[in-house]
Amino acid sequence: MFPTALAGSLPKPVWLADTETLWPKWHLADAPLLQAKADATLLWLKLQEDAGLDVVGDGEQARQHFVHGFLEQVEGIDFANKVKMGIRNNRYDAMVPQVVAPLRLKGRVHAFEAQLARAHTRKRLKFTLPGPMTIVDTVADRYYGDRVKMAMAFAELLNTEALALQADGVDVIQFDEPAFNVYMAEAADWGVAALERAARGLSCTTAVHICYGYGIEANVAWKQTLGEQWRQYEQVFPALAKSSIDQVSLECYHSRVPLELMELLSGKDLMVGLIDVASAEVETPHQVADTIGRALQHVAKERLIGCTNCGMAPMSRDVALAKLRALSEGAALARERYA
Ligand code: ZN
Repeated sequence: MFPTALAGSLPKPVWLADTETLWPKWHLADAPLLQAKADATLLWLKLQEDAGLDVVGDGEQARQHFVHGFLEQVEGIDFANKVKMGIRNNRYDAMVPQVVAPLRLKGRVHAFEAQLARAHTRKRLKFTLPGPMTIVDTVADRYYGDRVKMAMAFAELLNTEALALQADGVDVIQFDEPAFNVYMAEAADWGVAALERAARGLSCTTAVHICYGYGIEANVAWKQTLGEQWRQYEQVFPALAKSSIDQVSLECYHSRVPLELMELLSGKDLMVGLIDVASAEVETPHQVADTIGRALQHVAKERLIGCTNCGMAPMSRDVALAKLRALSEGAALARERYA
């Protein structure tokens, strides 16, 4: 009961890349960089296991950013000439690569870190990929001229890589779709269909992560404008409930999401956010267990997976680790309380 999992990303060690930032600069190049990525992946696998997590991941140590890490292996994208673009409905600017030709995979994208992780843990292994709609929102289109068409093209590529990851022994493939909380009507209209295209034919567990973003300043400021109740999930959950995706994540702790929205997802496993990634204050196990208690009013015991609200990439390493421990200890306490 109440297995625990991370959302996806974890902070990079100081010897690998810049810390406490998105799009961190690598500190090495070529073969030494590859070795350092491997070392960081193994380090975090060990730390997640020691923290007591039930589902572990590579912590996205081998990619610079959760979207652009995938795009680097896609043909038809001009990485040499990035342009400044407002993303997530102009919430913040990012330097993004441009789609300039038909999209095609150059080869495997994440074989290195997925196979490495699989070889070094017996725990359930989760691997994250960006969702098609979020990719479309994080690149400049100079070729397709149609968001849906481009999303479906990315979905096909994601599907190819997802099937290969499954063959590598990955147990859970999660697509990250923060854009679902920004373009809610479009998410319900075609975002979920693109997601299902990306997950087509998978027999492993499939998941989608929808959040209010990393704990960066632009997101914290944005959340201040969302009012007393955050009801974004209300528009997309019904479409997800009807979809083939097995697990859905949602923010819970320190968010203003009305918890009854979970009831829109009956039949799905819910990754409930029990850890705030926008604050360096470490939750206590009691706080984590209390949040589980509140969630249990709206989700069946056997369907609750304890998770963080979002990835931890921009956080301090010590804080992230302490929060993973709190997550695990809090879930253990909840098992005693609510068994
Ligand atoms: Zn997130």
